[in-house]
Amino acid sequence: MKKKDINSSRVPVYRDAGFELSDADTAAAAFNREQSNEREPELYIYSRYRNPTVVAAEEQLLKIEGSAWALLTQSGMSAIDVAFSIFQRGKEVRPWLFFSEIYGGTITFADFILKQKRGLDIHSFSPSGEKYDIGEFESLVKKVRPEIVYFETISNPMLIVPDATEIIGICKKHGAVVFVDNTFATPLLWKPLNYGADLVIDSATKYFSGHGNITAGVICGNNEELLHRCVEYRKYAGHMLSADDAYRLTTQLKTLVLRFKQQCINAAGIAEILRQSKNISRVWYPGMADHPSHGEAVKLFGGKGFGGMITCDFAGKDADEKRRLRNKFIKSVSDTIRVIPSLGDPRTMMLPVEAVWGAKYPEPGMIRLSCGFEETDEIISTFSKALGSLK
Ligand code: PLP
Repeated sequence: MKKKDINSSRVPVYRDAGFELSDADTAAAAFNREQSNEREPELYIYSRYRNPTVVAAEEQLLKIEGSAWALLTQSGMSAIDVAFSIFQRGKEVRPWLFFSEIYGGTITFADFILKQKRGLDIHSFSPSGEKYDIGEFESLVKKVRPEIVYFETISNPMLIVPDATEIIGICKKHGAVVFVDNTFATPLLWKPLNYGADLVIDSATKYFSGHGNITAGVICGNNEELLHRCVEYRKYAGHMLSADDAYRLTTQLKTLVLRFKQQCINAAGIAEILRQSKNISRVWYPGMADHPSHGEAVKLFGGKGFGGMITCDFAGKDADEKRRLRNKFIKSVSDTIRVIPSLGDPRTMMLPVEAVWGAKYPEPGMIRLSCGFEETDEIISTFSKALGSLK
């Protein structure tokens, strides 16, 4: 078949496993050039190395993030693996410091893979109560002297927002590299690279995909050398996203701004309804003045919104009554609001905190909500009715 350009406005799904290299000289030139690990190669060789549909999705992502480069991987966890692994030189590394309030899968990765399997020196920084103390953080950094510091912009499930600009400043003063997992905030609320972070990681499974039907991760950065090291590691470890998923991501990313804005609006409305309900004992939402890190959220997000996540606890004189009310609520909304262990989907969904985190968070009636982009009146009315009918 003779190749020709088609007048489509979309990048095709290139499903080639290997690309055609016309002769021995072309193949030699392509493999030679491949050693420089460019973001977009002159000649594609093999889809695990680089794929044109994936590069097209990355180009959309780097514009959203405002970064020099973006690299897609097949999950948020593989993006985290790439980011850390490029800094590993056998066991010859200084300690790596993780904030304690981060995604449970990342805690397991740090403990099970980095510490137990790779023998690295992993440290943890915990909040004082429900807030990260900047003074305590600096003291720990001086003591541990970490090579890398890792935190999330909005933590899960307490939705703690650290004073990220201060934290990055302290890291830079003490020579630490900073990785920020920005999955809950997205670049629409805050862009960590603009404030000195070295790498930003997002689970694109969540808001970027936004429809609960793609598993993907992305790393963004501005530093060219880090780019080449990430391209190289992703290639050798085989963390590349498929062309089909990248293609679907290019479509779904086009509505990110609309979707996320609506999710922030719905979250603010739902948080208020929850606050007013006598059946709810406490609401955690960074947009509320009584949230422990409301000040940090205002400082960081500058009025752009407070994200689409809320956590609340059902009222009750004891644990059993809280659980009973929680279960009744889950049952009464089960037609529209489902228990799904993910976030950022079109429809509002929930997760009973105790079922996932056990006794780590002491309130047994807690549920975490990922607010969808339904019509606001519709979702508010679902919550009002369900909360009003609880006894
Ligand atoms: N980071 C955060 C904040 C997450 O919530 C998750 C998953 O829930 C991940 C990373 C991992 O992403 P994935 O499930 O796409 O591997």
